[in-house]
Amino acid sequence: MKKIFALVLAILMVASLAACGTATDTATADETAKVYTIVSDNAFAPFESYDNESGEYVGIDMDIMKAIAEDQGFEYNMMNVGFDPALAKVQAGQADAVIAGMTINDERKEIFDFSEGYFEDGQVMVVAKDSDIDSLDDLKGKVVATKNGTMGAEYANENKDQYGYTTKAFEGSNEQYQAIINGNCVACFEDYTVIVDAIKNGVELKTVGDKINPSYYGFAVKKGTNAELITKFNAGLANIKENGKYDEILAKYGM
Ligand code: GLN
Repeated sequence: MKKIFALVLAILMVASLAACGTATDTATADETAKVYTIVSDNAFAPFESYDNESGEYVGIDMDIMKAIAEDQGFEYNMMNVGFDPALAKVQAGQADAVIAGMTINDERKEIFDFSEGYFEDGQVMVVAKDSDIDSLDDLKGKVVATKNGTMGAEYANENKDQYGYTTKAFEGSNEQYQAIINGNCVACFEDYTVIVDAIKNGVELKTVGDKINPSYYGFAVKKGTNAELITKFNAGLANIKENGKYDEILAKYGM
């Protein structure tokens, strides 16, 4: 009797070990096979912009993504589709995640899951280099440029009734700068680091006043999906902060 009991026990143990083995093997195989699709903005230097020389998209987001994927051993394809299209693709399940200088906020948290913040920035009012406008009060009766889907657009639209201006929507950052330079619009609200970089590179605009809504950028997935990718991003981010790679990337772009 004792012998049979021991035998049954042994068989059960082997069976359960085999079951564990199978489960683990399958999970590992799936992870290595998966190539994530990650989407981003296409003209948002120093976070992502097209480099004519290399024919590739470069920037802080591009380098952080690469460093984290290397650290965590996963593969991805990057598609620089523009900010609003990037968010739409993730929501439609056509992309796994977005990294696009995307500010973490409560409204977005209802439809996205975010990583830990990886860079702090806010928006600022932007006007033509020779403009006299120096506050929201000066916008009365004027047209303010907005970039679809952004915090800057939300801020512009929230304040338009109170300050008596209208807004005109554009797809990208460069289009809204151009609208101000050619006089079709008088201002926009752009991320501080991005407009400072553009001005440094010769765009004829200036900032007015203080930073609005300072908060963190995060990597995001559609709410309730790709939880393992957020875990990997966070783990990789902690590692590249620890080993100096993160600082190296920021320094490369003058931060
Ligand atoms: N940080 C801003 C936002 O999240 C702008 C992002 C962008 O234009 N790429 O809305």
